[in-house]
Amino acid sequence: MEAMATVMQKLRERSMMSTSNSNETNKLGETKCPKCFGMEVVFSHKDDDGYEIYIPCVCRDRNAWGRRFKNALIPEEFVHANLENYQINDDNQREMFDLTAKYLESFPADRKALQKEGAKNFGFTATIGEQRIRALRPEDRSEIKHKHNNFGIGKTHLQIAMAKQLIKQGFNVFIVSDVTFMDEMMNAKRMNDDGETYNKMLSSVLKADVLVWDDIGKAKPTEAKEGLYYTIVNERYKRKQPIIFNTNEDKSTLADRIGYAANSRLLERGQGEYYVIETEGIDWRLKK
Ligand SMILES: [Zn+2]
Repeated sequence: MEAMATVMQKLRERSMMSTSNSNETNKLGETKCPKCFGMEVVFSHKDDDGYEIYIPCVCRDRNAWGRRFKNALIPEEFVHANLENYQINDDNQREMFDLTAKYLESFPADRKALQKEGAKNFGFTATIGEQRIRALRPEDRSEIKHKHNNFGIGKTHLQIAMAKQLIKQGFNVFIVSDVTFMDEMMNAKRMNDDGETYNKMLSSVLKADVLVWDDIGKAKPTEAKEGLYYTIVNERYKRKQPIIFNTNEDKSTLADRIGYAANSRLLERGQGEYYVIETEGIDWRLKK
């Protein structure tokens, strides 16, 4: 328990350092600043030629945080998810939490460092993937599903909490949910606008400092989607920009869903620490 408190303290200090205003939980910069009336600049002085000189208002950093928060597209039900309110009920959840904390601690200090050093992918996978379970005889299905449950163990909660922590530290984070995102991309592809919408969407996913991908591999596989998975995973891999993901597939069935090439790139170990783990445990949502 003490170890956890220390980690939380460290992370808190880190996020304080990069946000000059501790008022950050204040509603996403929606309330207009009384100092600058939302202009984000304030009058400083007149120069020798009589021109008015304006300087950035103190609210600017806080608003930038709010914009990043908004742009990240945090799902409604996880707006309040953070590391402090993640509940550790068993060893599995303890392991998930510890790995999350370790990843955040080793994360590059700022955007510049991230662009230079890059960061590893981080992922929670199932031990027995959905695809494998679906292929079982119906009478075996529920036993295996129960024994190797992968739902309600807080994967999304933890990863949204990570996203929020990284946003506070100044990173541009983009969160996508697999089915919705893949549907939108496929619709955009069919639009009659010379690929403008499609490319715009693709570019925000490729350019984000951190991409959080919820439930990757859930969308019904098609050849077009497989191509898209590979493009995103591979482009980010080449730039060493991280993807934080979770999936209800296991490390091998995920390949059947997103394609072998994308899967191996996504899971690639590289050197040193490995941040993709298999998770299973009790569905705590049902217990409550
Ligand atoms: Zn202001």
